[in-house]
Amino acid sequence: MPRTVSSSPVRDLLALTARPEVISFAGGLPAPDLFDLDGMRAAFDRALTRRALQYASSEGDPDLRARVAERMIARGLPTPGEDLLVTTGSQQALTLVVTALLEPGAVVAVEEPTYLAALQAFRLAGARVVPVAGDEHGVDPAALAEVVERDRPTLLYLVPTFANPTGRTLTPERRAAIAALADRHGLWVVEDDPYGELRYRGEHVPALASMSGRVLHLGSFSKIGAPRLRLGWLRAPAELLRTLVVVKQAADLHTSTVDQAAAAAYLAANDLSAHVRALCAAYGERRDAMIAALPGTVPDGSRWTDPDGGTFVWVTLPGGVDAADVLAAALARDVAFVPGASFFATTPDPATMRLSFTTNTVERIAEGMRRLAGAWQ
Ligand code: PMP
Repeated sequence: MPRTVSSSPVRDLLALTARPEVISFAGGLPAPDLFDLDGMRAAFDRALTRRALQYASSEGDPDLRARVAERMIARGLPTPGEDLLVTTGSQQALTLVVTALLEPGAVVAVEEPTYLAALQAFRLAGARVVPVAGDEHGVDPAALAEVVERDRPTLLYLVPTFANPTGRTLTPERRAAIAALADRHGLWVVEDDPYGELRYRGEHVPALASMSGRVLHLGSFSKIGAPRLRLGWLRAPAELLRTLVVVKQAADLHTSTVDQAAAAAYLAANDLSAHVRALCAAYGERRDAMIAALPGTVPDGSRWTDPDGGTFVWVTLPGGVDAADVLAAALARDVAFVPGASFFATTPDPATMRLSFTTNTVERIAEGMRRLAGAWQ
């Protein structure tokens, strides 16, 4: 008997918002107008050699690993290329970690709310997901210590920088406390970091992986390059990386060699950090436009996060409003967002919603927020 699985509300919603007249704040999609199409085309042209068409090692293209490692070192995370595994998006890295570390019934501790597709991966593995209390600065280390005592989690899953769905960032002090806790209790921590480079203000925060050897750091080209490349990477301690490579072999032998070679060729010929700076300049303006429009858009008494980077603003509506009802009215006005309930591991808060500000231009954001303001009437 195949097991029963439910579909992802976000992916279902993306299908509904595909109509061109809809202004969608739903998916965490990078801006299509900012993809470096010419740079990518040239990189694929250079990459398409006979060698790039052959089977290759599961760990990934050595040139690409070395270039990714170089970028991680530049961001303050010492990383030899051998500590990296190239994955088919960071979503695959999550699946590999789940397969390598979780027995059915194992406990995974998460921030609540958190990334929906990570929750799906944990549930598919038969894990028990336990939320850890937190606030606008991320999970609370004291609450985590209690969960560790009581539930003995195998794994803690975090998006510590510009979280999906809240946009929150875990403070350096809390990172240090969590790293110490992980070391003390032999807890594995997944630091899922697809948004970390997209900072629009404030100081860089050191990666959790720079503070403990128990941290698996996941990176991705999806938000800084293009998501359809499906390229990500996983930095893990050597002994665990060996297991993850075997799991990767069982999953797909290796990530597309053509795509890996193209990414390596792109990094050789282009300054990706300069491209990221251009993204940050544009996304920072889009963030500001959405934050500025919110008071005139949502009902009095609403609260929202004020992210320093990333893609998302998280809104909590005043008592009694159900974001799912608002979505129906919003779709009738050709604007979309994601109701927040599905990001909760345990008790959903129906009065929450996630808005993405990266996909649309400032003008489209202003128009979309005007339409959304009508959804309450
Ligand atoms: N983790 C988080 C927190 C995400 O938001 C996403 C994408 N929405 C992913 C992982 C998956 O990214 P990728 O495209 O690299 O598989």
